[in-house]
Amino acid sequence: MQNPFQNGMTQLDKVAKIKDFGDEFITRLRQPDRDIIISIPVKMDDGSMKIFEGYRVEYNNTLGPYKGGIRYHQDTEINEVKALAFWMTLKCAVAGIPMGGGKGGITVDPKELSKIELERLSRGWVQKLSDVLGPKKDVPAPDVNTTPEIMAWMSDEYTKITGDETGATFTGKPLDKGGSAGRGPATGLGGFYVFDSLRTQIGLPDKCKVVVQGFGNVGSNAAQIFIENGHTIIAISDSKGGVYNENGLDLEKLTEHKKKTGSLADFEGSKNLTNEELLETECDLLIPAAFENQLTNTNADKVRAKAILELANGPITPEADEILFKKSIPVVPDILANSGGVTVSYFEWDQNLKGEHWSEKEVFNKLLPMMNDAAQKTFKKAKEYSTDLRRGAFIVALERIQAKM
Ligand code: NAD
Repeated sequence: MQNPFQNGMTQLDKVAKIKDFGDEFITRLRQPDRDIIISIPVKMDDGSMKIFEGYRVEYNNTLGPYKGGIRYHQDTEINEVKALAFWMTLKCAVAGIPMGGGKGGITVDPKELSKIELERLSRGWVQKLSDVLGPKKDVPAPDVNTTPEIMAWMSDEYTKITGDETGATFTGKPLDKGGSAGRGPATGLGGFYVFDSLRTQIGLPDKCKVVVQGFGNVGSNAAQIFIENGHTIIAISDSKGGVYNENGLDLEKLTEHKKKTGSLADFEGSKNLTNEELLETECDLLIPAAFENQLTNTNADKVRAKAILELANGPITPEADEILFKKSIPVVPDILANSGGVTVSYFEWDQNLKGEHWSEKEVFNKLLPMMNDAAQKTFKKAKEYSTDLRRGAFIVALERIQAKM
């Protein structure tokens, strides 16, 4: 797989070519403050002991405590976590929240563990890292394959070790364990607000035909929200492949179908698609909401979407970006498009520290203007520098970080 951290650095270099931030600042941003690799011993159900490798990268805390999710995946490794931590630094800055960037992970396929093994592993991650975590130091959250329940175990472990009762060290917790209303759909909803704010500026119609890659937290919530707002989801996929129906998919029935059969394939009235085919489907809007490196120099020229909204982190390589730019396909970049998740995580942290609980309506009412503002500032910056939205968003973020530094 293409090194995602290298991709992030290439993006940074491209921005430094169109705006002079000074060598010192760019050099500082090419390295995380620290990257930590830990080994986590876990007692398995059969009595054996297994060692897992875990990570926490604290990239930059100029704007506030390090903030970023924890990923559980068999392919997770330090370069991926570093890239995600770098993007988190910029994302928090674009969203205008007082948080820095970090990310964590464990190399593991969680589907191979029993629930109790997963709990031991999650608590083990906290035991090894409790010194560097804390509400004013480093605040993790969920990412791929980590759930509110995992955040609850981690938060509990942190309280046991440190005595800190604020609950503000982990966000994305269940509602009854200090979580925020609205955190579940926040990334998809924030993405929709950003899309809605930019829709006419990027030349999309009132009612869009939308293709979504990924059927997890982000992809399925986003798809539902787009449908509720009058758009049509014509194709959607998970890791095993997807389905297509030009008249629109019924998500409720599709979710039921996946529960029953274990896959999206062979859904009534629709055609099966591979993930490769899905990315090349003709549509108004393509939403990658799964993983890094999905559009590369081998398939970007086959994209037939009018625009792309990156809800996954890093789904488009820098080479693919250039191809899409030449094809005049606007890309709403990850650090803007999926920043709704971390923004509501910040709300959760804020509520925990103040001992408050906001309703879902209050949360969404606070989220909407922040996403609008971030989208319009990005659009303006891209115009000012006659560049794409990714570079526009980077400039907004880098200016904020540099001003504070
Ligand atoms: P998730 O684990 O809930 O879902 C991931 C989905 O992707 C699953 O449906 C899985 O089947 C699918 N998938 C895996 N490999 C695939 C492939 N090769 N092709 C198509 N689908 C594939 O994870 P999530 O939280 O929805 O995160 C998805 C992306 O969004 C990640 O890039 C993550 O970093 C990013 N993101 C998540 C949040 C959040 O709040 N959860 C916030 C910002 C960004």
